[in-house]
Amino acid sequence: MKTILIKNGKVLRLNDQEVTFQEADVLVKNDKIVQIGKHLAPPVVDLEIDASGMLAMPGLVDTHRHLWETALKGVASNWTLMQYLNGVLGGIAPDYQPEDVYTGNLLGALEAINAGITTIFDWSHIMNSNAHAKAAIDALKESGIRARFGYGTPGTSVWEWFYESRLKHPLDAKTVRKNYLSSDDGLVTMALAIRGPEYSINEVTDHDIRLGRELNIPISMHIGGGTFGPKYHGVRLLAEKGLLGPDLNFAHANTISEDEFELLAAHQCSISVAPEVELQMGLGLPVTGKALKYGIACGLGVDVVSATSGSLFDQMKVALQAERAIQNERLYQSGSMPEKLTIHDSDILKVATIGGAKTLGLDRTTGSLEVGKQADLILIDIKNISLSPSINPVSSVVLYANENHVDTVMIAGKILKRQGKLLDANLENLIERAHRSMERILKERR
Ligand SMILES: [Zn+2]
Repeated sequence: MKTILIKNGKVLRLNDQEVTFQEADVLVKNDKIVQIGKHLAPPVVDLEIDASGMLAMPGLVDTHRHLWETALKGVASNWTLMQYLNGVLGGIAPDYQPEDVYTGNLLGALEAINAGITTIFDWSHIMNSNAHAKAAIDALKESGIRARFGYGTPGTSVWEWFYESRLKHPLDAKTVRKNYLSSDDGLVTMALAIRGPEYSINEVTDHDIRLGRELNIPISMHIGGGTFGPKYHGVRLLAEKGLLGPDLNFAHANTISEDEFELLAAHQCSISVAPEVELQMGLGLPVTGKALKYGIACGLGVDVVSATSGSLFDQMKVALQAERAIQNERLYQSGSMPEKLTIHDSDILKVATIGGAKTLGLDRTTGSLEVGKQADLILIDIKNISLSPSINPVSSVVLYANENHVDTVMIAGKILKRQGKLLDANLENLIERAHRSMERILKERR
């Protein structure tokens, strides 16, 4: 039994209407939150953390990221979607060895933890062999992060595996499920990362969704990227085939039509918005506001660290201000100035926490600080100059904070970052390995 008491913090409380921070203590026993209240005084405490001047809130949830690309920071920062597909998936992915996947996944997961992310969906389309899959899973497990591992397709040829692909999802998914991720209760659980109707032919999409359902795991795919949305009408197609369901997650959804949003809502599908890269690569405008309007479960994602930052704080800011830009622009076009802003920082904070957990089907486990849930919790230091004076803690988190203000990160009751430093991580060595990995891969392309 291990008992941790977090004293004197301002604790984030969520309900459907509002987000508030209230002075309270949080008591954690083993992996769970067992009590939240004022002046808690349990008889036995193994560790007491003084959270005075700190915000205690649920860890952030990144619902869509390709962790294997962590060593490629900056490679795609000036690229469009097509340049990225051909350059990273076409050019670089075939050269990736299992140790490159391991290094990218471990460094990326630690980078996420350092930035206050306690749960991540690793969309892994680098399954060049079973050794690649094992390397990705080993790294996730080693990092201590809570993860859905999205078993994807090989990165051996973007031309065969994407672009109206006729190749079905590898049945090795069954081996991975059986040998490495048979349990749905652990920190790392399995999902299927499929191409879907914009990147594979109908017969393949049918097969892939049925494979995910046979394995009884969540299924994620990209949808509505730029001109692919109106070209394929993927959501409509899946609806006509009776394939939509609450186990389906869609990344981006920028250019799907209004009737397709209605279909996603009616079938309780979820959407992952990756606002920064969507704006960069020409996928279209982020759909955060639309997803909220239709009542669709919606979370944020970093997507590709090869292009943008790995911080969900950045994604929160971009999502909020992009949505405001969309709504304000609509008003200017009709000849009026906005009288008030209809999307608030609190809406985005919910999207980045409980919304993300719902998107991944993990909202009974994580995404909010509640008695009985897993102790996935972060402390944010609002005494820092960039956040002081903190008049509105919600604004502090969404618009002022970054990873350097994350003092403490706890996942399933285990402390992984304390007083601003990652614990138990040999970072120098790992960063050196990532350098070597990137240099070798980029050299092989020349
Ligand atoms: Zn993606």
